[in-house]
Amino acid sequence: MNLILLYESDFISEHKVHLTDHRAQHIQNVHRAAIGDKLKIGRLNQLMGSGLVRQSDANGVILETHFDQEPPTPLPLTLILALPRPRMLARSLQHISTLGVKRLVLLGTKRVEKSYWMSPELKPEKIRDNLILGLEQARDTLLPEVHLETQFKPFVEDRLPNICAGTQGIVAHPGSLEACPRGIEGETTLAIGPEGGFIPYEVEKLVEAGLKPVHLGERILRVETAVTALLARLF
Ligand code: SAH
Repeated sequence: MNLILLYESDFISEHKVHLTDHRAQHIQNVHRAAIGDKLKIGRLNQLMGSGLVRQSDANGVILETHFDQEPPTPLPLTLILALPRPRMLARSLQHISTLGVKRLVLLGTKRVEKSYWMSPELKPEKIRDNLILGLEQARDTLLPEVHLETQFKPFVEDRLPNICAGTQGIVAHPGSLEACPRGIEGETTLAIGPEGGFIPYEVEKLVEAGLKPVHLGERILRVETAVTALLARLF
């Protein structure tokens, strides 16, 4: 936890928070913070700054807050990710949030098992928990928005063309003719497939919606590795 993320409910007065949960334990046991120490803090979806430890005991931790710093710049990206299997989803959400993605669509495709949509990992509070772990890691406060699109066709036909309009559209697909671009600027729409990949029909539909297929070399990467490799290479 490189940043103590604070919520409105933590505030006991304008410049003071009282923490009693895992964050208090983290401050006490991992940071081993003493009275007078300063910790990096952030207010969810708002500024970052420092928290001065005023009290730390069995009742928790009281920090005096000072906010003076903007969170890091978001990636200019909408990421469309075929819904990964639940365990991979949890990790992918953390990476995605750490890397600065702010708009994420989780998409159903032919090779996404239907049962994945029933997983407890998809409960809004679980999604949020994983995104928050990513923010605490990165030192960021802006919670990504996540849309669940279980049906491929209506999403790709009705909504994707609008999302994609005016952006550089890319679908990562092994074996494509063109290599993935590097260090691009401007708004981007990127689609990443499921473990089994997109089927040819899906690639066609994504191309119709404005995405260009690109490869990342001859090695086939796991979805969570592909996410990291693509974002690092693109931005
Ligand atoms: N078995 C599938 C690969 C799935 S890998 C196949 O052979 O087509 C999961 C996803 O990660 C892919 O759909 C793609 O979006 C991305 N990916 C992984 N390795 C890639 C590569 N070398 N080039 C482009 N995309 C890749």
